[in-house]
Amino acid sequence: MSENPIVGIREKERRRRRVNRIKSAIIWTIAIWMIASITAIIYLICRCNSLDNKLDRFNEFFLSASANARVSEKKQEAPPDTSGDEQDDKDRTTSYKPKEDETTDDTKKVYLTFDDGPSDNTDDILDILKEYNVKATFFVIGKNDEHSKEMYKRIVDEGHTIALHSYSHKYSEIYKSLENYEEDLERLSDHIYDITGVRSHFLRFPGGSSNQVSNLDMKEFIKLVNDEGYTYFDWNVASGDATNQRITKEDIINNVMKDVPLHNTSVVLMHDANNKNSTVEALKDLIETLQDQGYTLLPIDENTKLVQHISVEEVINE
Ligand code: ZN
Repeated sequence: MSENPIVGIREKERRRRRVNRIKSAIIWTIAIWMIASITAIIYLICRCNSLDNKLDRFNEFFLSASANARVSEKKQEAPPDTSGDEQDDKDRTTSYKPKEDETTDDTKKVYLTFDDGPSDNTDDILDILKEYNVKATFFVIGKNDEHSKEMYKRIVDEGHTIALHSYSHKYSEIYKSLENYEEDLERLSDHIYDITGVRSHFLRFPGGSSNQVSNLDMKEFIKLVNDEGYTYFDWNVASGDATNQRITKEDIINNVMKDVPLHNTSVVLMHDANNKNSTVEALKDLIETLQDQGYTLLPIDENTKLVQHISVEEVINE
């Protein structure tokens, strides 16, 4: 039986088309699979970063909450305040030298401190402080974008104290070793100096000096920063704004006003961070309430009484 050549050509053509269809299907499958994989990888990287940030926020909240709990436990054990605030400074062996009149004047001092900036809220915070002619302290982190650089400069130009928090603000990295911590701190110090011309000697440990994250004894970090001429500040009043985004302006004001009467020198922990809008919303009323009740609002300087969860004096005299 002889083959019809036309039928043969058609058959070949059909086969060729079928092969092409299969090829296209394979190529499309691979392409879709690759796009899906890449998308999944990008998504997972973003999720990791955001979880990392959340973990740091959680650390901050958890640590500030537990530090406050420890501070209030101490308060209950010790005689009523004036203990920390009115402590005699004459034995202090750090570079910190308070003025003589510090212990005799009875003005109630409040130091508003903002951690973790610059952020999208820094402009608003600075605007409000300017409106009330109040100076505060910003414990900043390392950022490189133009807006952040402007904010570092604005903080300095408007008379606030720029102080060091951490360049990376990654607890797991900075507290891994003294070298890591020192490198991070130096990097931030140089960064701020390059942008503002200010070499800050004030710092706040991420999580405070009493944080429980560091595997190494925090006393080692305290000795290190003291040897390098830094003065660190914790806080004795927490605004609670590290907790979550649902905290209201009223909660923040209540948290602060509940604790400031307990101290002659109050160092208030607040945050200058994206999405911490309640802090900004609370600021005007908070300043007005504090001023109405006779408190003096000041930026941290070399005359500020130390507020430390773990006292540098105890560590270096051990
Ligand atoms: Zn922080």
